[in-house]
Amino acid sequence: MTSTLESEFLLPEVKTWLSQPRKLLIAGRWLEAVDGKFLTIIDPCTGAQLATVAAANLADVNLAVAAARRALEGTWGGTTPAERGRLLWKLADLIDENADFLRQLESLDTGKPVMETYVFDLPIASDHFRYFAGWATKLTGESIPTSLPGEALAYTRREPVGVVGAITPWNFPLAIAAWKLAPALACGNTVILKPSELTPLSALKLGELILEAGFPQGVVNILPGLGLEAGNALVEHNDVDKISFTGSTRVGREILAKSGGNFKRVTLELGGKSPNIILPDADLDVAIDGSLSAIFFNQGEACVAGSRLFVPKHLRSEIVTALKSRAESIVQGFGLDPTSQMGPMVSSLHQDRVMGFVERGNQHAELITGGSRNTDLPGFYVNPTIFLGKDDLEIAREEIFGPVLTVLEFDGIEDLTHRANSSQYGLGAGIWTSDVRQGIRLAHALKAGSVWINGYGMLDAALPWGGFKSSGIGREMGSAALATYTELKTVWVNLL
Ligand code: NAD
Repeated sequence: MTSTLESEFLLPEVKTWLSQPRKLLIAGRWLEAVDGKFLTIIDPCTGAQLATVAAANLADVNLAVAAARRALEGTWGGTTPAERGRLLWKLADLIDENADFLRQLESLDTGKPVMETYVFDLPIASDHFRYFAGWATKLTGESIPTSLPGEALAYTRREPVGVVGAITPWNFPLAIAAWKLAPALACGNTVILKPSELTPLSALKLGELILEAGFPQGVVNILPGLGLEAGNALVEHNDVDKISFTGSTRVGREILAKSGGNFKRVTLELGGKSPNIILPDADLDVAIDGSLSAIFFNQGEACVAGSRLFVPKHLRSEIVTALKSRAESIVQGFGLDPTSQMGPMVSSLHQDRVMGFVERGNQHAELITGGSRNTDLPGFYVNPTIFLGKDDLEIAREEIFGPVLTVLEFDGIEDLTHRANSSQYGLGAGIWTSDVRQGIRLAHALKAGSVWINGYGMLDAALPWGGFKSSGIGREMGSAALATYTELKTVWVNLL
């Protein structure tokens, strides 16, 4: 199951939980898949089997969609906004109470350093449920004056979209599940959550907490399964009203094409190749540390990873030297080890994919550091890798989704905006400068859903999150998410 080193840190209750085959949550009950199939979950730090989880298929999706529809038209549809808010708040409290358990599951399943779950995954999850608990009672419409002859009262209402299929990736399984479930439930929808087949464990634990919080049966159903089976069944299902997807641009494009049967509402949070720009007047020490964390946080398996680092030509040598020495001091290790600063790739397949980019990059760009698998450890590790490259190389254009940084030099900032924007993606961007006015001007010119000045990658339940161009459609988080989980209805009352 887990390695000796992992066993040292593993909580006994987590060990027991992992030893039981995990099931699907449908209509408030834990069920085996109709066809009895299982997914084998692998520990990326060791390559060993971590758990077995029921694998949903079309038949299970049909059951879950029917349960979600019944809940929507039954108890949940009649729940007051205050009651929905109370349940969401209770769930946030339960997440906090079970934080150590969830932290370990998340770290074991993804390989990420457990220390990162303290600052990101866990607080993000409970913050979202608390933030959207507050919105449940504030989903107001408007009363709007009309101009037709006669007298009328006309107003709008926000109503739930209906049954939501939420499909999530493997890099931040708990946080992303939370940022979909919280607004969907606050707005009165019911949900079928399909976590990634690689990392379904924290979503299943969350399912236990959802039942404990007291959500009526069928309001949240959790169906781990393959994308082409469970995911596709949700996307093509005519009784699913909305798909909220986070994942690759390739799959997002397929989902958009396939979900038109019943004109589902679709929101997509997709990939990125985000520019991170160090301007000549930046505090270099801060900018270099920030840029390393922009690319290496979560092993580079982050949609907003600052994977294209633009540096001034005259400072290139100084910046590259510092990047190299600091990258070489990053400690890779088992996720549960509190001294680990970087974990492995999520799977052996993904490790091969990342190494493919690295090997092709090596033929055309100057390798500064890394460029290899870390074979000192048993899992799927890739050493932090930095290239000095050019804009047209694959490593500067394609999303690698691993610990690979491409440094690009610039000479004067005139064509910098154009170069930074020359990407099919538009998810995030970073700017490091001591001239905030210059930073703001550049932030407004960059085509990205989030731009950070003198920082990188922060997100907050209250702030909209999403991408320009091929990085997605729609926004999650903040009040912006409410529009995507509600339908706006206009009601006319003739007063004559
Ligand atoms: P992926 O697209 O392979 O899979 C994402 C989810 O979609 C998984 O649950 C998978 O099972 C499912 N899926 C796969 N094929 C499907 C299909 N044909 N129909 C329906 N569902 C299908 O992505 P991944 O490899 O899990 O995650 C990495 C990607 O996610 C990266 O591109 C990354 O940038 C993106 N991402 C984006 C954000 C964001 O907020 N924009 C956040 C995290 C990750």
